[in-house]
Amino acid sequence: MDVSANRRTKRTASDNKEIISLNNVSKAYSTGAPALKDVDLHINRGEFVFIVGDSGSGKSTLIKLLLRELTITSGDINVMGYDLARIKHRKIPKFRRNIGIVFQDFRLLKDRNVYENVAFAQRIVQKSNKEIRKNVPSILAIVGLAGKYKARPRQLSGGEQQRVALARALVNNPTILLADEPTGNLDPKNSWEIMKLLEQINENGTTVLVVTHNREIVNAMQKRVVTLKKGVIVSDEEKGGYIDED
Ligand code: ADP
Ligand code: MG
Repeated sequence: MDVSANRRTKRTASDNKEIISLNNVSKAYSTGAPALKDVDLHINRGEFVFIVGDSGSGKSTLIKLLLRELTITSGDINVMGYDLARIKHRKIPKFRRNIGIVFQDFRLLKDRNVYENVAFAQRIVQKSNKEIRKNVPSILAIVGLAGKYKARPRQLSGGEQQRVALARALVNNPTILLADEPTGNLDPKNSWEIMKLLEQINENGTTVLVVTHNREIVNAMQKRVVTLKKGVIVSDEEKGGYIDED
């Protein structure tokens, strides 16, 4: 028996190196000019990619398409082997389980403590209490919040709140981590710390996409940089920098 051929036929799209694939993607809202136009974007498993561009250039629209919060107007979009133009509604929760997401405004549960905010993500995917008691402390230690289990979000600094949000995004071990301006509300020191955590998470195998306006960090980190302008990808560079507006 030819084992290698057998393996090949069993391979699914999600085993492929390419984990995010957009071909000719456009997205138009009901009003205004299209938010994204003819976007081609191909990201391999394990990459770290910055998405930069002026306000209104389509960055958050791209993130929402990747999460299948929005559907494309035309083109093709495939994420982890899921054809997002055709995915059945009942399959969307399972698809999203493999994606962690972090936002500029943290979006924590204000009436729950740090531990519960992270545990909540595990309860949604029906992890046992035993697993939760193991996983939550371990992820909180990774983001540097081992001593803060009982604090409520309002008792924490912005940097600490974003670490909680990051722990919540990571506790279910996502394949892809999406961050939409994660340092937008943080001072330079905390911004660097969050970015270093994102880099560390990426080094452990997670594919990471970070939308940011932080020119200094983008220029220093020497990662792949995709630049959007008015809904069009105007540059996509390995070890790139922040492109100055002309
Ligand atoms: P960015 O995140 O880069 O600031 P967005 O993706 O939020 O950009 O927005 C891209 C464009 O789409 C902007 O012109 C914005 O006004 C428009 N837009 C975003 N969301 C909506 C919406 N829900 N309805 C209509 N237009 C929208
Ligand atoms: Mg945005």
